[in-house]
Amino acid sequence: MNIHWHRSDLRATDNVGLAAADDPVLPVFIFDETVLAHGSPPRVAFMLEALAALREQYRERGGDLHVAHGDPARVLADLATTHDVATVHYNIDHSGLARERDRAVTATLEDAGVDVRSHEDALHHEPGSITTNAGDPYSVYTYFWKKWRDREKETPHAPPETVVDAPGEPLPTLKELGFEEPKADLPAASHQAAEERLETFVDGPIYEYDETRDDPAVDATSRLSPHLRWGTIGPREVYAATEQAAADAPDETAAESVEAFQGELAWREFYAHVLHFNPEVVTENYKTYEEGIDWHDDPTEIEAWKRGETGYPIVDAGMRQLRAEAWMHNRVRMIVASFLTKDLLADWRHGYAHFRDHLVDHNTASDNGGWQWAASTGTDAQPYFRIFNPMTQGERYDPNAKYIREYVPELRGVNPETIHSWHELDDTARTSAAPDYPAPIVDHSERREQALAMFKRARGEDPDE
Ligand code: FAD
Repeated sequence: MNIHWHRSDLRATDNVGLAAADDPVLPVFIFDETVLAHGSPPRVAFMLEALAALREQYRERGGDLHVAHGDPARVLADLATTHDVATVHYNIDHSGLARERDRAVTATLEDAGVDVRSHEDALHHEPGSITTNAGDPYSVYTYFWKKWRDREKETPHAPPETVVDAPGEPLPTLKELGFEEPKADLPAASHQAAEERLETFVDGPIYEYDETRDDPAVDATSRLSPHLRWGTIGPREVYAATEQAAADAPDETAAESVEAFQGELAWREFYAHVLHFNPEVVTENYKTYEEGIDWHDDPTEIEAWKRGETGYPIVDAGMRQLRAEAWMHNRVRMIVASFLTKDLLADWRHGYAHFRDHLVDHNTASDNGGWQWAASTGTDAQPYFRIFNPMTQGERYDPNAKYIREYVPELRGVNPETIHSWHELDDTARTSAAPDYPAPIVDHSERREQALAMFKRARGEDPDE
């Protein structure tokens, strides 16, 4: 018998480690206090629901998910002895903390005479497998993408045949784990829910993805991010569905749209590779600014940003979508991140920490990659002198203010022109249009100049030139 140790791979289908362990397999999930200390209400709530669904999947196959609490090394070593286990399998998690833990657990198990095997499951191509011709990891996405796209991909793995029935403990509640109920409405967390989402998406929206993905008012993107984060769906299953969609595409434009979507899947893997080779980016800038960046970091401004009360409608809509759904549209994530770092001149780490606590799809690699991209501190990042104007971004991507009015109720009765010129109105006009919505907390043009000067100083250049 073998153990498969589930962590962020909460599914029985298309699971590399689980498929390798099947003869028969004892699937195990361990609640580890050290890992839970990094949890947040939306993420832990999603995880618990996904675990309940996973347990159900195993029960339908005549077995069960073994649930335990404690130090994984001890729990797994005890289980290995009790059940005469040959090998413990697990899928690799690329964050620095997880790799440290896995090294320690592996050493303990091997000392106890248990064989341990790790597998690449979350990514199609493991870090180190897509490199420059000199063998270095890519720091530019476009080159990475070309190789990623052309490389052959594995097909999905079948669920296990024989699952051991050794349930261990009942699943705890959120409260028992020390978390509050999330305030946001979360998506359903199960492999079935993920498959339904995928099927709906590849059945039509994928063919218009390239054209509509930047429109936050349209449900144009896959919303698979929480499922990919928690592994309620496998990347091979997602990719196979996109390949089928490409084969069924009605025309060339639709086929190109499928490829645009695959390009986003590759961004996820690109950032995972960046994190693997640069674990320090979790707290440090990827890119070195010789003089260091002297962030302005005003706590009152940062709090207004978190509450979605900056007086910049598209920014506030995004921050409130985050609160309401524990998710935010990608275009708006870019806008709010640019606003925090370039208009409020606040360190990206404040934004990263807020997203980490509130996003149900938070994963270290993509969240960090997104923030460092916006802050011009990351790999292949936005150049520091390209600063989004939050008003023109709102006007361009939400022209009818449909998204803004959905998430900012104070602006519901206000026409789009007034909303998109909010920064230019005087106090009287603002009060008469939407008395409860704030005036802009900063002046974008002034802050833009200050941001440019801040980055020039960080580069050791004269800010006045
Ligand atoms: P779709 O457009 O349907 O894309 C499909 C999948 O591709 C996504 O589910 C995701 O896995 C991947 N993907 C898409 N865009 C990106 C991207 N730019 N970078 C990396 N992967 C991408 N994504 C996360 O999964 N977790 C995060 O914590 C996260 N934090 C972010 C923070 C910032 C500041 C920014 C700018 C982006 C962040 N992203 C993050 C990337 C992106 O916003 C989300 O993946 C996307 O909005 C999820 O919605 P979707 O599943 O409908 O995406």
